[in-house]
Amino acid sequence: MTQRLYQGVENEIDATTAILAETKGKSCCGEAASRRARSTDKLREECGVVAIHGHPSAARQAYLGLYALQHRGQESAGIATADGQRLANIKGMGLVSEIFTDDVLAKLPGTMAIGHTRYSTTGDSALLNAQPIRVDSTKGLIAIAHNGNLVNLGNLRASLERDGAYFQTTSDSEIIVQLIAHSGSSTLVDAIADSLSKIDGAFSIVMMTRDRVFAARDPRGFRPLSMGRIKNPGAPDTVVFASETCAFDLLRAEYIRDVLPGELVMVTEDGVTSRQYSSGVPQTSCIFEHVYFARPDSRIFGRWVQESRDQMGRQLARESGVAADVVVPVPDSGVTAALGYAEEARIPFRFGLIRNHYVGRTFIEPEQRVRDFGVRLKLNPVHNLLEGKRVILIDDSIIRGTTSRKIVRMVRGAGAKEVHLRISCPPTISPCFYGVDTPSKRELIAANNSIEEIRRYIEADSLAYLSLDGLLGAVQDQGRTCHCTACYTGDYPTQWVDVEDILPATVSL
Ligand code: SF4
Repeated sequence: MTQRLYQGVENEIDATTAILAETKGKSCCGEAASRRARSTDKLREECGVVAIHGHPSAARQAYLGLYALQHRGQESAGIATADGQRLANIKGMGLVSEIFTDDVLAKLPGTMAIGHTRYSTTGDSALLNAQPIRVDSTKGLIAIAHNGNLVNLGNLRASLERDGAYFQTTSDSEIIVQLIAHSGSSTLVDAIADSLSKIDGAFSIVMMTRDRVFAARDPRGFRPLSMGRIKNPGAPDTVVFASETCAFDLLRAEYIRDVLPGELVMVTEDGVTSRQYSSGVPQTSCIFEHVYFARPDSRIFGRWVQESRDQMGRQLARESGVAADVVVPVPDSGVTAALGYAEEARIPFRFGLIRNHYVGRTFIEPEQRVRDFGVRLKLNPVHNLLEGKRVILIDDSIIRGTTSRKIVRMVRGAGAKEVHLRISCPPTISPCFYGVDTPSKRELIAANNSIEEIRRYIEADSLAYLSLDGLLGAVQDQGRTCHCTACYTGDYPTQWVDVEDILPATVSL
């Protein structure tokens, strides 16, 4: 019975070569992988999702949406389309623009589409786990793509396997589809609502059948998901969903609202309907979306990211001002906070570090041998702006400290007299279990060292972080949104966490 449910899992059209094999543990987008094997010194996002209903070139619209969401994942991408009869799906490894040429888009007919772009580590960059996943289930053909990470998947998977389920991938998305297929509910929308109420963790999901599009967020609203529309003169509006509103700008879509935490939205030819499949769970939207992940031109959780980052920089200047000649951002994500800091502190802002935007993905792969060269490949100091200056460097995080040390050395090597590092969020002391690729606690420098010890390690003249209260104040929106701050507090909003990952180090630096 269950085997039959999955006969329709396809070997999608392969735009790449390698399909990697088995992985272990949990990681971004819910695939199994060893988080401890990762060595990048920046936190990595998750994934980006997009959905289109009612557009003659749905695949191209999904492509444009994914193009705008490329910062949320650069390892693989996929688009599934439906034309009322068939459901096509193409996935590949690489950037959206590399995979979806005109020829490839021409193979995706239909007025509906969902899309996904994904980050993963080398070990689990498997096409097998790329999304959307298309499944021929007892409830019909379903394509699904999701951003986030389930935290009770071990139990769910075991219980589904006891019921005879046979898994073809290690993706959380497949668990969701299995739950839908095994649901006793008679209608598809009831089965989806029933399944979503059984899973715990972070998920912003887009789903599609031959004739309907669905979008849903987890009850705590960890990850963003917004709804918009494209006005079509003389024809019904196109309804669009995207992880971030910057995608709407490229689609010339108008923002309507966020999909609410615990909400399931369904779009059919007859229009948009919605139901609250879960309520009463406290909201814990990821505050790190505002600090780092989301683009500054996006509006997430009802607030402009640019505004939040500007406020973080201003508050940082109020909390930890220091006499200096110039404020320099670590590009690109430190730029907006540095602008706020400089304005508040009345110190000139200068691009004293220049980023090379053309470094290939080969050089930003999370591998140790690459990381040692990565900083010099990506950043170069502007000597005449730094020479003889007291410099305030603004960055958005310190993970292991290795990159920060290289940047401080680089600025000092360019002739800076003093280097003061300011971080636009509190110290990262705990790993994330909700779709963000974080090292284990053993590898987080702030989990195992005092701020003074970190300062000595990175060789800065002074080091200060934004306070938690300062950060919460910077993202506040008249109390409408509550945030997850677990990576700064260790206080997790869900019950299920990986105990091994939250053990502190036994030795310090
Ligand atoms: S633990 Fe940190 S990164 Fe993860 S969801 Fe919470 S705030 Fe976001």
